[in-house]
Amino acid sequence: MINSLRGFRDLLPPESDLFARIETAAREVFGLYGYQEVRLPVLEKKELFVKSTGDTTDIVEKEMYAFTDGGGREVALRPEGTPGLVRAYIEHNLGQTGRNGKYFYIGPMFRAERPQAGRYREFTQIGAENIGNSSPYADAETIAMLVRLLEKAGVAGCSVVLNSLGCGDCRKAYRELLLAFLRGRSETLCEPCRGRIERNPLRALDCKTDGPALAETAPKLSLCPACAEHFSRTRELLKISGVEFQVNTSLVRGLDYYTRTVFEVRSAALGGQDAVCGGGRYDDLVRSMGGPAAPAIGWAVGVDRMALLLKDKPAPDTAPGAFVVSAAKEAGEKAFALLTALRAAGISSDYSSFDLSLKSQMRSADKSGASFALLIGEDELKAGAVTIKPLKEKSGQYTVPIKDAPAEIEKRLPKL
Ligand code: AMP
Repeated sequence: MINSLRGFRDLLPPESDLFARIETAAREVFGLYGYQEVRLPVLEKKELFVKSTGDTTDIVEKEMYAFTDGGGREVALRPEGTPGLVRAYIEHNLGQTGRNGKYFYIGPMFRAERPQAGRYREFTQIGAENIGNSSPYADAETIAMLVRLLEKAGVAGCSVVLNSLGCGDCRKAYRELLLAFLRGRSETLCEPCRGRIERNPLRALDCKTDGPALAETAPKLSLCPACAEHFSRTRELLKISGVEFQVNTSLVRGLDYYTRTVFEVRSAALGGQDAVCGGGRYDDLVRSMGGPAAPAIGWAVGVDRMALLLKDKPAPDTAPGAFVVSAAKEAGEKAFALLTALRAAGISSDYSSFDLSLKSQMRSADKSGASFALLIGEDELKAGAVTIKPLKEKSGQYTVPIKDAPAEIEKRLPKL
């Protein structure tokens, strides 16, 4: 018996159905906002994530599924979607050839984190990126779209937390200030933070161990006038869009590439792993990866966590409309043809096996939750007919010519 790997899940019904519903809601919302889908490889050069996500981030330093493949190439399973999307944007010159710089992706991501409720080693993200737009309108639009998506999928009770990390210039001055502060306290920091403060002092603020205490005491970043104006416009535009949010100056986000606006959506109902979505602006990433100067903003929402929030919402009824049963050996072919006709008429239909006994087939019909059993026995076979037996009521069976059965069932099934 071989089991699945720890942190890697089989998504079974009805949870798999929840995932599909969330994805359908997302596609609808993306359509409303002019976003187009990009399907990206799951495996990329390891270097892509080291250079973009950043080699001092937990995701790359500790959690990445990176290995050398049979051909000696250093590769990694993607831990997040933005680096691959930016690579594709540059590789295919989408700045010139694309429609509007708005893209979305849906797919699995991989991080070797310690598995727990709401945290898996393979999980699904839905992500959106708006590349080439530096205006606060883009910030407000993308956050409003995210809130719309959560509403459309039925996820309620989330809060939006917002901050601005400023541009490279704001951060340069702040880095020195923070570094001096952290150096003075390095013996109180956790081991990994001590090791990386010189390389990336901002990461200490995002550290799960040191972050909360540092948020109280560390010096605060002050925004340059242009960044302060961008942040203030973003907040105003969010209000105009009807999005409720709170500003939290300790929100730094774990990745290297963020500039200006960063945000998270959280849900208290999730407990420890309360982040549903994370995102922000990355105005310098495209250029630093070898592309054109293309300011951008994006986010990624965790589908597994959305599904956790929806698990008590009833799934739509996916039971078949009709279940075909053959009550005579010779009736199998007719029954099989009837199944084809029902499905061609758009009626979801099922059967167990026409080689089994009538009793066993009827048991499967009941178990399927179908509204009607359609039975072809010896008498029906002779008459070219089928007996329609309602399964949810005790009585009311009747016989119709086989050719009329699809229309008859369609008439009797509730309209979706
Ligand atoms: P991040 O890229 O870390 O900002 O993650 C964005 C979103 O992806 C989070 O808010 C979560 O909803 C989801 N997510 C991140 N890591 C995991 C994980 N290990 N398991 C499940 N969901 C995750």
